[in-house]
Amino acid sequence: MGRESATVPCMTAPATSAPSARRLRTRAALLAVLGEHGTLSRAEISRLTGLSRSAVSSAVTDLLDEGLVSETTAPTAADLARPAGRGRRAAAVTLRRAHALVLAFDFGHTHVTAAVADTAGTVLGEATAHLDVDNHPREVLDAARILADRALGAAGHRLEEITAIAAGIPGALDTRTNVVRAPSTLSQWIGMDPAAELGRVFDRPVTVGNDAEMGARGERAYGTGRTVNDLVYVKASTGIGAGLLLDGRIYRGASGISGEIGHIQLPDTGTWCRCGNRGCLESVASIVEVRRRLVHVLAPGARPDEAVDLPPLDHLADVPAAARVIGEAGRTIGRVLADLVNCLNPAAIIIGGELGQAGAPLVHGIRESVDRYAQPAVAEAVDIRASRLGLRSELYGAIDAAVAIATTR
Ligand SMILES: [Zn+2]
Repeated sequence: MGRESATVPCMTAPATSAPSARRLRTRAALLAVLGEHGTLSRAEISRLTGLSRSAVSSAVTDLLDEGLVSETTAPTAADLARPAGRGRRAAAVTLRRAHALVLAFDFGHTHVTAAVADTAGTVLGEATAHLDVDNHPREVLDAARILADRALGAAGHRLEEITAIAAGIPGALDTRTNVVRAPSTLSQWIGMDPAAELGRVFDRPVTVGNDAEMGARGERAYGTGRTVNDLVYVKASTGIGAGLLLDGRIYRGASGISGEIGHIQLPDTGTWCRCGNRGCLESVASIVEVRRRLVHVLAPGARPDEAVDLPPLDHLADVPAAARVIGEAGRTIGRVLADLVNCLNPAAIIIGGELGQAGAPLVHGIRESVDRYAQPAVAEAVDIRASRLGLRSELYGAIDAAVAIATTR
């Protein structure tokens, strides 16, 4: 992971001498209060940390040498509270936000990943656990805290140094109320406010978004969509959702629930969907359905209730029967995306999620349907590609969202 091992206490610590444990603690305490308050005088740092003026002074000198802070005569909170002209303005120490740290979470249906990153998006420490996210929100929040501690440990940092937190969740989040809405595969999360819950656990500013929205952010900031202002990110997994970036901005819709393409009805399909309708895209082209069909062609003798280990999807392009199943799922998803392409005229469609790992056969299937059903001029304008971030688009999107908070505070 990243550039540092778990034993290196700081990402830019000089390699020439090993600082003492006390010095590291002092340094971490300074970074923590500066992370929280932004700009402080040395006296304020001393008061807030309980450290002596000389210890603060020595640590500030070290941080200045490392370029982690700058010292200016910019007004501190105390200066602003003082009547104009009263008192001497002390030099103020400011944390350079380029060195701020963020914490990002990717919540999937069966996993949680926590990552510590700097504002350049470099992941410094990461930890993942596999658990039933949909049905156990309390346990998931407990796990988030444990995973954050592990990721911080691997990065050699402390929670107090984290400036902002962001998380992607695999469910519909109402941006008016911040609560999870039905229908959702996150059945036990409905009515919960995940940002408030995470805020209570971590006592830091938190933003939470839908996973497909985070995927779009991740691709735009760190993936294959960096040069694109109009893109559709498709998370094709247990559910199928789209994150929309329009004119360079994430589009959430009136209540934050845009992009639910998994519940667009396909003609001539009668399969019941969990939302209560029949013929939704998700009911015929989710990873669950595709795996079921792959078992049928790759292990034809398997009983319906038998657990069959399939090869990874990206190994199946050269297995004709499997590539046909994946291609058919691509054409089905492409049928819905063709309508979206007609409406939005995007420059790129980026396919992620578990099914997105199938690569070429899936992308070709989608391309076929978009060319067949979208208007030629808009079909021609859209580039359809698999995510290069693999299953990490959502995590990188959460990093980008947290960095946005950290650098604007
Ligand atoms: Zn549905």
